Amino acid sequence: MGVATIGEIVWVLGIIAWYIIRYPFERRARRRRVVTDRSSPADGIGLASALFGMAILPGFYVASGIPKVADHPVNAWAVAFGTIIFAAALWVFRKSHKELGRNWSITLEIRESHKLVDTGLYARIRHPMYTSFLLMAVGQAFLLANWVAGLAGLVGFAVLFFLRVGKEERMMLEIFGAEYRAYMERTKRIVPYIY
Ligand code: SAH
Repeated sequence: MGVATIGEIVWVLGIIAWYIIRYPFERRARRRRVVTDRSSPADGIGLASALFGMAILPGFYVASGIPKVADHPVNAWAVAFGTIIFAAALWVFRKSHKELGRNWSITLEIRESHKLVDTGLYARIRHPMYTSFLLMAVGQAFLLANWVAGLAGLVGFAVLFFLRVGKEERMMLEIFGAEYRAYMERTKRIVPYIY
């Protein structure tokens, strides 16, 4: 088995693990009443872009090898690095879901008795779940030896992130006011101490 194939298998297993982690939270979230719904068409576009760039397009590449012209040489170190980054992404993804608990939503919503979470990963950064998406996209770029399928995840992530993060923070400010303002002052968005 070639190194390129190993990278593809790791990516597929990573996506399956991602879904296994997410599924129970999605089920639980459905049971809680939504009191503020700020989901918009922009949100839908963001989610669709992320889904396309991080799952559909790379999945199509792994299954079909298309677009072959965009293949590039594989490097075992790159695949090893991608595996570590992807594993880290899943760890952050799982931990942020657990910490956010009942306050999690796929779109911009506030649920009944919503609490501001500011502990654990949330003590340093305001959007660890988006950090996990960024790590996944970086992992994908190293795991798939194809410019299009590899880099599509970063593009999809960027569209989702920039369409959403400002709105999410405005919504949180509206609901939590001074508490969220103070929280913003002591945290960064997705990279501790940097951004
Ligand atoms: N942006 C966060 C959460 C993503 S889930 C992250 O990347 O980790 C999106 C929902 O989480 C939003 O609709 C909002 O209701 C909720 N949310 C975001 N930050 C939160 C926080 N610090 N505490 C509680 N809920 C939060």
